Amino acid sequence: MLRFGFMAALVLTPALAFAQAATIPFDMRNRVTTELAPGLYTFGNFSARSIFVVGDDGVIATDPVSTDFAKDMRAAISKVTDKPVKYVVYSHQHWDHINGGKIFKDEGATFISHENCIKHFTNTPNPNVIMPDKTVKGGETVAVKGKTLNLMYFGRNHGDCMLVMQVQGTDVLYVNDLVTPYSLGLGFMPDYDPKEWARTLREIEARPDWQRMVGGHGVPFGKRDAVALRRDFLEQLMTAVKAEMDKGRSADEIAATINLPDFKDVRGYKEQIGRAAERIYHYYEMGW
Ligand SMILES: [Zn+2]
Repeated sequence: MLRFGFMAALVLTPALAFAQAATIPFDMRNRVTTELAPGLYTFGNFSARSIFVVGDDGVIATDPVSTDFAKDMRAAISKVTDKPVKYVVYSHQHWDHINGGKIFKDEGATFISHENCIKHFTNTPNPNVIMPDKTVKGGETVAVKGKTLNLMYFGRNHGDCMLVMQVQGTDVLYVNDLVTPYSLGLGFMPDYDPKEWARTLREIEARPDWQRMVGGHGVPFGKRDAVALRRDFLEQLMTAVKAEMDKGRSADEIAATINLPDFKDVRGYKEQIGRAAERIYHYYEMGW
């Protein structure tokens, strides 16, 4: 079994926090359940991660990820409770999080997403994505007996239909792909809006009502420094790329030479930095 250590926040400077000690052990390959608060669990491995919420009369699950992942998550839920999955809430529209929900549909779960996701599902149909039964705008709650999940919407950021979730009474936010804790994540996609993404993270950082966050990939949870790290990276990246563009450099030149020393030890930096810089180049050149 592979184990990796990640850092808790000993100082507030994000890149430094990453380099300090205290490990959050996790399993790289096997999907495991981690209880974060009474009735609140995260399930997954480094590749994909969801949360589920267990109440007295049923369960709220989130992203099913894939048929195989959903089958494993259903088995993991059964180890905790014999109650049915009543709701499945999609964090956002990307298929690497929301494929495979049929096992929950078959047991009668109601599927929920932000209303802006629907056009993505109808424009590019995918038979493995169960269509939501119900949509929300943000600000609503989903409840099972004894547990209420807040659904929050921060506007455009990572696509345009991301729901951030928090079980009432816990200090844990589920932010999915907005932050992969202590990592630069798995890609830099065209529908990311970097400016609105950084704005969203600033708004999340300004909320005093959380201490831990769960992402859609990576370690089971991060602390507040994980959100600051990602936001700081986005802002420094945007500033650096714009400065190079102002000197007349091309997208290829910038992608090949970009250097953000604060983040060079963050997981994924070497693999992602060139593509990330290219995405920012197009943001400033094309206006999106
Ligand atoms: Zn995504």
